[in-house]
Amino acid sequence: MSALGTPAEADEQRVLRLEGVRKSFGDRPVLSGIDLTVDAHEVIALIGASGSGKSTLLRTINLLEQVDDGRILLTGTDITDPRVDADAVRARIGIVFQHYNLFPHLSVLDNVTLALRHVHRTKKADADRRGLDLLAQVGLADFARSYPDRLSGGQQQRAAIVRALASDPEVLLLDEITSALDPELVGEVLELVRELGASGTTILMATHEMAFARDVATHVVFLDAGVIREQGTPEQIFGSPRDPRTRAFLDRVT
Ligand code: ADP
Ligand code: MG
Repeated sequence: MSALGTPAEADEQRVLRLEGVRKSFGDRPVLSGIDLTVDAHEVIALIGASGSGKSTLLRTINLLEQVDDGRILLTGTDITDPRVDADAVRARIGIVFQHYNLFPHLSVLDNVTLALRHVHRTKKADADRRGLDLLAQVGLADFARSYPDRLSGGQQQRAAIVRALASDPEVLLLDEITSALDPELVGEVLELVRELGASGTTILMATHEMAFARDVATHVVFLDAGVIREQGTPEQIFGSPRDPRTRAFLDRVT
């Protein structure tokens, strides 16, 4: 028997696979042939200077940007196939952005259950039960009926993470989710990400938090001008980077 399992199992293990992904804005190449694999339960930190293409990479996975070339497989399905239903794909992916993206006119609980009710057609009572349970797990049960502006920035980002997780996505994409927060609020959000990673959530996160990436990521990917220059374990990337561009970047930011 093969230790690699059947092809179907390999597909299941491989949550995301980007193959030769290219994207330009006008005549400016922003992603220049990205090959990247995210396996189940990995926590991948995407690092790189501002403008290196991290957000664009995450946005192509969530089909917020169309790729010019290459393909993206989500658990074996080519989601860049034009015939694919983008909403159905997005329902399988959780994404959280830098700026809190809770709807201000909805309670925290309604924010969390919105996709469950409208995309996944879950009954209100069931969606509310799941939402309350998730909010309780992150210590936000008391805020379920509050509007987002009653929450601190850190609490809002934790609620946004809960909302992204409510539909049980195959992968969680996090785009610099602590960069807009006051420094004293960063810790509680990173702590939640750490717990999610430890409990097996598959995470691909763009981050400026190098100490956090070193501590929590299972794999680190350094993006430089739309190219993956180097990738490896946190120990290798932070401890003994091979590429001079990686070294120069880390010297600047650490
Ligand atoms: P990062 O997240 O690493 O800072 P981005 O993916 O946001 O990088 O941006 C990469 C490059 O693409 C930047 O030069 C940015 O100005 C450009 N860019 C991003 N989005 C757009 C857009 N919608 N139109 C034109 N240029 C864009
Ligand atoms: Mg960005």
